[in-house]
Amino acid sequence: MAGIYIHIPFCKQACSYCDFYFLTRGELKQPFVDALIEEIRHYGNHPISDETIDTIYIGGGTPSLLTPKQLKSIFTALETVFTVKPVEVTLEMNPDDVTEEFLLKIQDLGVDRASMGVQSFDEKLLQFMHRAHDPIEAVDALKLLQKANFPSYTADLIYGNPGQTMEMLGKDIDRLLTFDPPHISAYSLTIEPKTRLGKQVELGRIDPVDDDVVADQFDFLYQKLSSAGVEQYEVSNFAKPGKEAVHNSNYWRHKNYLGLGPSAHSLYWPDADNAQRWKNRSNLKSYLEQDWDGVREDEESLSLSEMAEERLMLGLRTKWGVSKKQLAERYGYTINNKQEEWLKKQQEQGQFTSVDDAIILSKTGLRIADYLIFELISRRL
Ligand code: SF4
Repeated sequence: MAGIYIHIPFCKQACSYCDFYFLTRGELKQPFVDALIEEIRHYGNHPISDETIDTIYIGGGTPSLLTPKQLKSIFTALETVFTVKPVEVTLEMNPDDVTEEFLLKIQDLGVDRASMGVQSFDEKLLQFMHRAHDPIEAVDALKLLQKANFPSYTADLIYGNPGQTMEMLGKDIDRLLTFDPPHISAYSLTIEPKTRLGKQVELGRIDPVDDDVVADQFDFLYQKLSSAGVEQYEVSNFAKPGKEAVHNSNYWRHKNYLGLGPSAHSLYWPDADNAQRWKNRSNLKSYLEQDWDGVREDEESLSLSEMAEERLMLGLRTKWGVSKKQLAERYGYTINNKQEEWLKKQQEQGQFTSVDDAIILSKTGLRIADYLIFELISRRL
């Protein structure tokens, strides 16, 4: 089984915080779709095409800027080249693009999970983020999702914005919870250097929010969501039981995935000693030239110990943690005495829990996940 990720590199406008790869030149959408179909065909010769595809994730950028007809041609190409038996097909969309007709058409194509870029219902915050939608469009889009009866959906929220008070965050969360969403991704605003926001911070026009304030906002969000039965299962992801994202969870478990489109990443790990990772260049111009070997960059073979460390980094950020047995069997990685002793101490201090043979970060541990994971891994060196 493997997953497919498709990156649609178009947006209406640049959100102030975003450092994903995208362009605002809509006239290139059809040439891109044509090239994407060729890239899909190209992978018909790759061994990953022997795997059954069980998840498809169409992200970006803004996939909802494509027409249902364009999306249909992409799904048809996938089905021609791969054996597709999906348990989850997700499409990212922005509130300002969504109509009832669009939602019904993409459901007909097999999309059964929508990922809605809400971010906030506060007009000023949406303007600060330079989002293309307003609060009314955000509410309407969620209403339409309910009306279209999507089997599952997720909505994104961003907290830790300059000027965002606890009261404003509370209003955003309460508003979202009135829709009873099965899944919520909540991200703290990150300031990336090459973005509009990053430049404003560099020029001293905006002060980033203090880490303690962001941590308090996270705690507040965590409490509100868990009281509503939407539980944290990964650092930034919350779901009702059974509604956790399958595609993303598979990334954290090192299942194979093929990334298509500019800037998309892939992992192919057919046997123990042979894990390969690569990325498509973040460049639509070169992508449109359809030189599929030339489009790849950062190709690397990863050793088992590199994969094991990565598994710890990804898995410990989830509620499932990482099984020691699996670490030993799949990765040849045993937790040594030094690590065991350290883990025991951390468990006494409440940073880790353990269920059966799994190493799991506690709720407090998850708040400093990166630090604890680094400490655990470095004790093996
Ligand atoms: S719509 Fe999404 S991908 Fe596009 S600029 Fe905004 S955050 Fe980035």
